[in-house]
Amino acid sequence: MKKISLLGATGSIGTSTLDVIENNPEVFSLVSFSFYKNMDLARRIIQKFQPVFVACGDVEQAAELATEFPNTSFRAGVDGLVEAAIHPEVDVVLTAVTGSIGFRPTIEAIDHGKEICLANKETLVMAGQWVMQKAKEKQVSILPVDSEHSAIFQCLQGQDKAGLRKLIITASGGSFREKKREELANVTVKEALIHPNWSMGRKITIDSSTMVNKGLEVIEAHWLFDVDYDDIEVVLHKESIVHSMVTFEDGAMLAQLGPSDMREPILYALSYPKRMKMVGEKHFSLPEIGTLHFETLDEERFPMLALAFKVGKLGGSFPTVYNAANEIAANAFLEGRIHYLDIESYITKAVESHEEIEDLQLEDIVKIDEATRTLVSSWILEKERICKR
Ligand code: MG
Repeated sequence: MKKISLLGATGSIGTSTLDVIENNPEVFSLVSFSFYKNMDLARRIIQKFQPVFVACGDVEQAAELATEFPNTSFRAGVDGLVEAAIHPEVDVVLTAVTGSIGFRPTIEAIDHGKEICLANKETLVMAGQWVMQKAKEKQVSILPVDSEHSAIFQCLQGQDKAGLRKLIITASGGSFREKKREELANVTVKEALIHPNWSMGRKITIDSSTMVNKGLEVIEAHWLFDVDYDDIEVVLHKESIVHSMVTFEDGAMLAQLGPSDMREPILYALSYPKRMKMVGEKHFSLPEIGTLHFETLDEERFPMLALAFKVGKLGGSFPTVYNAANEIAANAFLEGRIHYLDIESYITKAVESHEEIEDLQLEDIVKIDEATRTLVSSWILEKERICKR
């Protein structure tokens, strides 16, 4: 029996994970979970899975649920997230929270020797160097849940790392892939939230359209698979059938294919190295799909991808700045406070104005993350003030 802590249980990856756990009650059990806002769903999860610990978004929620479910412990905030992750009964932590909030619980879970199924890419982007080093020290495996990284991980099974040439990450192109740059100036939040292939959370859908998501995935792949940025390529593949590929020095290329169903990489990460039967498997037939397309990605159309490679190569805290600026800007766009293309401008401005500090430590990363958020938030506020005048 694998005992699971699920961080971000009420989101898109979270509910897919619950589905996988529910369909395999003899192998998986839910020990703890976290949620941020959705009390109704949290209640249903507690009733169904009877976890021992729940981390809530705030103290009021925790107090309310504590009166309803006397057999479960409740706590709020980031401390609650950490406690859910390091609970003594937990074997594996699946991190499905969005954004750098996933950072502390992931680090602490590794410290406590918990296996990590990583769906929170921001943690590796922010502090890949430290996270991977700690995982190595503690002999903790970090298994990818992101569909692209799961695909690469699957393609690399049983392969000789020395013979690896390249990772090829596929990109759907997001909501605005058919639009030219000049058409992007006045797009709305509603339009941005319609993804052609995947049904995902709001922030990642925006990130997918700006190609920041792919940029974060490139950095995530660099750390997970220890591959140079020059050996990572992104190709546009609008069908999202090939989840990613690898090429080897002998010219062979391996790809992993499947339907757009996040339960597949989730089940693989949770059952690794075994392969278990997918309950409620989605129909998938290549003859029915017929044709697959691959295109070179236009870097001028999607400048955030090129910037991700740049910050990745610069290393240090540059990826932290890229990620933090994006979190603030993407959320401001979702709140209707800035225009779509402002997301790119703020990320670029934050990266360009960043100066690296000497002898960077993990504590500095946390400070730089916070400072970037404050800085970009102040830029947005300042612009709002000017616009009101
Ligand atoms: Mg992905």
